[in-house]
Order: sequence, then C-alpha cells, then structure tokens
Amino acid sequence: MTPKTRVLITGAGGFIGHHLTKHLVGLGYWVRGVDIKSPEFEPSPAHEFELLDLRRWENCVRATAGVEEVFNLAANMGGIGFIEANKAVIMHDNVLINVHMLEAARVAGARRFLFTSSACVYPQYLQRKADVAALKEEDAYPADPEDGYGWEKLFTERQCRHYAEDYGLDTRVVRFHNIYGPLGTYDGGREKSPAAICRKVALADNGGEVEIWGDGNQTRSYCYIDDCVEGIVRLMRSRHREPLNLGTERLVTINDLVDIVAHAAGKTLRRRHDVSKPQGVRGRNSDNVRLRAVLGWEPRVPLEEGMERTYRWIEGQLRAQGRTGARARDVTVA
Ligand code: NAD
Repeated sequence: MTPKTRVLITGAGGFIGHHLTKHLVGLGYWVRGVDIKSPEFEPSPAHEFELLDLRRWENCVRATAGVEEVFNLAANMGGIGFIEANKAVIMHDNVLINVHMLEAARVAGARRFLFTSSACVYPQYLQRKADVAALKEEDAYPADPEDGYGWEKLFTERQCRHYAEDYGLDTRVVRFHNIYGPLGTYDGGREKSPAAICRKVALADNGGEVEIWGDGNQTRSYCYIDDCVEGIVRLMRSRHREPLNLGTERLVTINDLVDIVAHAAGKTLRRRHDVSKPQGVRGRNSDNVRLRAVLGWEPRVPLEEGMERTYRWIEGQLRAQGRTGARARDVTVA
C-alpha cells in the first residue's frame, strides 16, 4: 500500500471505519467509503462515499470497482446485549456481506483484502474465569466461539484463508479486542461497554449511582481507536496472512473501568449491579506476543487517557442535547 493507492473501506459510516477513513485520507490515499448509513456525528472525508447495502451482490461489485485494496469493516453488530439478542439476523447479514465482498474483491482484481474479525472467535471454554490467561491466536481452535456473531467471524476468517490459498487474493485478518474512543455509538442499544459506562457516568449526579451489567468482576482489555487504526494500517502493510490480535494486554474489571471513568468525570458514584443482564464471557485478554513480532509495535494509549478523551466527547454530546449539565437540571425542574 502506497499513498494514492485506491482503497475501499466498507463500514465507513461506522465507528472504526470512519476513523480509518480520516486516517488514510490524511496519509494521502484515495478512499471510497461505503455503508448503509452515513457517519453519525460528522461528514465522511472519503473522496467518494456511497450508501449501499452490501448484503446484495451487485452492490459489492459496484463498491469494489477499480480499487486495489479493500478494508472490509461492514458488519451488523453491537454490544453484548445486541449480539446475544439478534443471532439469526447477525449471521444472515454478515455472512452475506463477507461472502459477497470477498468474491467481488477477487472478481474486481483487488490485490489485498483485510477482514475485521473479533476476539469473539476465541473458545468460550478458555474464558470462564476473571483472571484468564491471555488469548494467543492459535487458541481459536478447537473452535467454540461466541454463538452467532463469533461463529460468523470464524467462518469468514477461514474463507479469507481459502481465497488466499485458492485464488491468490492477499488477505489479512485482524482480531479486535474491545475498541473504544470518541465518535462511537453511545446510546440506543448497539453501544459497547466503554461508551455505555461513559454515558451512564455523564448522566449520573455526583454522589448518585450507576447501573452495571453483571457483578462487575468480569474482565476485559481495551484498545483506543487511534492505536486500532495504526495497527490496521501496519497489518495491511505487513506480509502476515494469519489472524492477528489487535488489543492491549491490560486486564481490568468492569468495576475498574467504571472507577476510571468516574475519576475522569470528577464524580463519586455508587455501583448498582444488575446480574440479570448479559455479561458475555467471564474474562478475556489479548496476548500480544505475535502482534509485537509481526508489527514491531503495539497499542500505547493508556486506558485512563483514552477513557478520559472518550468521556469528554460523550459528555459533550449529551450536554449539547440538553441531557446533562445546567440545561438538563432546568428541564427536570420544569
Ligand atoms: P459499527 O457498527 O460502528 O460499524 C459497522 C458499520 O457497518 C456500520 O456503520 C453499519 O451501518 C455498517 N453496515 C452494517 N450492515 C451493512 C450493510 N448491509 N451494508 C453496508 N454497511 C453495513 O462497528 P465498529 O465498531 O466500527 O466495527 C467495525 C468492524 O470491526 C466490524 O466488522 C466489527 O464486527 C469489528 N469489530 C469491532 C470491535 C469493536 O470493539 N468495536 C470488536 C471486534 C470486531
């Protein structure tokens, strides 16, 4: 990949796709963005932005016309509540998108194709306790991924491998571990835990309480969006065809994450745990040994710094809508 390379980013109206579009345009690439929706919070800087439903073959053909490289991020997805409640539609939509996108990229003569997989491909039997061992890429088999979304990701990982072996399409597969940052969905049911926690903390009064899904002792690692975008570009430039983790190795509990956000907000808050809500696996962490070896780099934005930036952005959005701060209090009093 060199500047002026013509690239397609699918899912360019989404959180990571929009950040990647900004980054690649900034580096001098020619970018076509495609999505079924426009970016939610600011216009896309893509040279071309097309609204297309990529479940449909003819739209995938149109999207890939004349591009040399494809960053395939489009997916029907959301946080744990969404993916557990929508398994059939998620598998249906994402299988169609990915099968068509790989074939369209091949037919169009694209040189390289990056697929955004997920830590959800890792077996559930390795993630049953909070102080889990970090997950290495080869741990994905014997397979027992997250039921629905995780199975589809694992299937498409295999499809990428076979397109490389049988057709010579140069594929890349990245397994994200909880990417977070500004310009991500924070409301409406598709938001992930970092954004949901920022919203809840922003809406809570100092001294009040926030609701947490589960007992809060479940663990995860989190990766800031700028590191994610940098990692994607490094992987695309590398020669590495096997799946690669992209995350941080810092394991924290959800309770820790709430405390980090409350500290950024300058609030003292009580936690109210709702154990009836979905929590996903008990613990999950990224092993970055291969990431460091392949990319000569690893994510570096500290969680406190990334969460503070994310909190400030979400709080600003809520304030602008009159849902927090002085205007919200006026509305309550009225
Ligand atoms: P996102 O939901 O913000 O972005 C996905 C985009 O795909 C959305 O804008 C959506 O409108 C678009 N899309 C859905 N169906 C489509 C269709 N039929 N045609 C065209 N576009 C369609 O999610 P994100 O966080 O930016 O995730 C990007 C990719 O990374 C996805 O493949 C996701 O599965 C993967 N991923 C993300 C995370 C994370 O922590 N954010 C973790 C693991 C994997």
